[in-house]
Amino acid sequence: MSVLILGGTREAATLARACANAGVRDCLVSLAGRTAAPQALPLPVRIGGFGGVEGLVRFIRAEGVTGLVDATHPFAARISAHAVQAVAQTGIPALALHRQGWVKQAGDIWLEVADLAAAVTALGIRPRRVFLTIGRQGLPAFAAAPQHHYLVRTIEPVGDALAVPHLAELNARGPFDARAEAELMARAQVDVLVTKHSGGASTYGKVEAARMLGLPVVMIARPATGHMPATQSVDEALAFVAAHGGM
Ligand code: NAP
Repeated sequence: MSVLILGGTREAATLARACANAGVRDCLVSLAGRTAAPQALPLPVRIGGFGGVEGLVRFIRAEGVTGLVDATHPFAARISAHAVQAVAQTGIPALALHRQGWVKQAGDIWLEVADLAAAVTALGIRPRRVFLTIGRQGLPAFAAAPQHHYLVRTIEPVGDALAVPHLAELNARGPFDARAEAELMARAQVDVLVTKHSGGASTYGKVEAARMLGLPVVMIARPATGHMPATQSVDEALAFVAAHGGM
């Protein structure tokens, strides 16, 4: 009997540490396997997709999962939608642990767009110096706008994900501080930032830096993921795990 934590985020790692510290150990963290060297977690970890909704339902039944926490990234829409359906089919209790969205402040210049394709369009035709921080998986969309100079920051190497003539690459994992972000953006003469509206504190520095430098931000909206009771509190998620079998 255990609680399944769908992870791959800082929030999931924080919850895993909180569970371990509280002696709540009978839980399992699931990762998609996108990063070659994921952060070490103090709980059992399984890696790889389940095989759609059916696979997740099978897993829940076979492993006797007694509760599910969806602590995936707000843009991991497919696994979250699968979780909603699998929970409905199996009747297990579930909770989403999702980070708080960012709130636009005075001085922010946000061009809010619905998706990656709209972000590419929002950059326009004139060549610009773009700081692209949307994760490796989203990079291929920007091949449609090869006229820009891209500074791309990803955790994993870009590899062949974006073949454009002007590309500089940084591989780093947050958190990123606003002052350092501003220095980086000024040094690279960035004139527009492209980001997902991920929310949370650890990647907010670039948004603050853009405000400090008076730069526009192409802000990609969060996708809809279906309905599940939700919290932004790791303590509440820990209480959920403890209450639903993770002891
Ligand atoms: P996604 O598009 O929602 O999911 C695609 C497929 O990957 C799912 O159908 C599922 O495969 C598998 N999958 C995703 N998350 C999984 C998990 N935690 N455990 C097991 N299988 C998982 O997901 P994504 O956007 O590629 O994100 C993958 C992972 O990276 C997630 O854990 C997410 O939290 C993390 N992440 C994503 C972003 C982002 O911007 N999207 C940013 C930071 C971290 P099956 O259908 O075979 O089960």
